[in-house]
Amino acid sequence: MTKSVLTIFAHPDDAETMAGGTLIKWARDGYRITLCLITDGDKGTSDPLDTPEAVVSRRQAEQARAAARLGASVVTLGYEDGMLQPTLDLRRDLVRVMRKVRPQIVVAGDPTVWFRHGTYINHPDHRAAAQAAVEALYPAVKKHGIFPELLAEGLEPHVVEEIWLGPTDGADTWVDISDVMEEKISLICEHVSQFPPEPTRAAFTRMAREVGREHGLALAESFRTLRLSSSTVRSLAGDREHRR
Ligand SMILES: [Zn+2]
Repeated sequence: MTKSVLTIFAHPDDAETMAGGTLIKWARDGYRITLCLITDGDKGTSDPLDTPEAVVSRRQAEQARAAARLGASVVTLGYEDGMLQPTLDLRRDLVRVMRKVRPQIVVAGDPTVWFRHGTYINHPDHRAAAQAAVEALYPAVKKHGIFPELLAEGLEPHVVEEIWLGPTDGADTWVDISDVMEEKISLICEHVSQFPPEPTRAAFTRMAREVGREHGLALAESFRTLRLSSSTVRSLAGDREHRR
């Protein structure tokens, strides 16, 4: 069966920068990829004369080019960039997307990450998106009693088998991206308003080298992963039988 992968991130370019190499490899293996963008990225400019509309339309065009490289579909929820909160409305919206796409694998942020490398404060949108994604994954997406209005939309509960989170300080899975590093850089650079080619190539190659170094890989991406137990799957089957 062709696997389905859903990425859930706050901004255009988050999935590509965090997991682009892994997504390219999965796309090569025939996985069906859907990119869920919670915001439009309308604050993604340092030019005070840029209008939000101009920024959004530029970023939508960039996202379409990046998605085309992955053969991916794009779902945009249209929340305001820079203002994201892990609300019940957002959780419901993410459950709706998961129940429509019905992925085996969800890739999202790690909600526990506040700081990285002694140099970086994690964007609050990234934490909010990550928290909302994890809270949608358990237990809302698999419980028919949570958000019953989604049942009325014909969206049945669903169990996601694997969750891949990053960037993270609790990595347990490393993916060798040596053979797709050039493609990852090209993928990220489709978001040219955010990532000019030369500093991007140097920065992402250095990061991938550092991630791979301790695991004998030339260039890598790392993730905290959860493989949900079969008892979860059985309990969903039980729920279904119970409802008949
Ligand atoms: Zn971002």
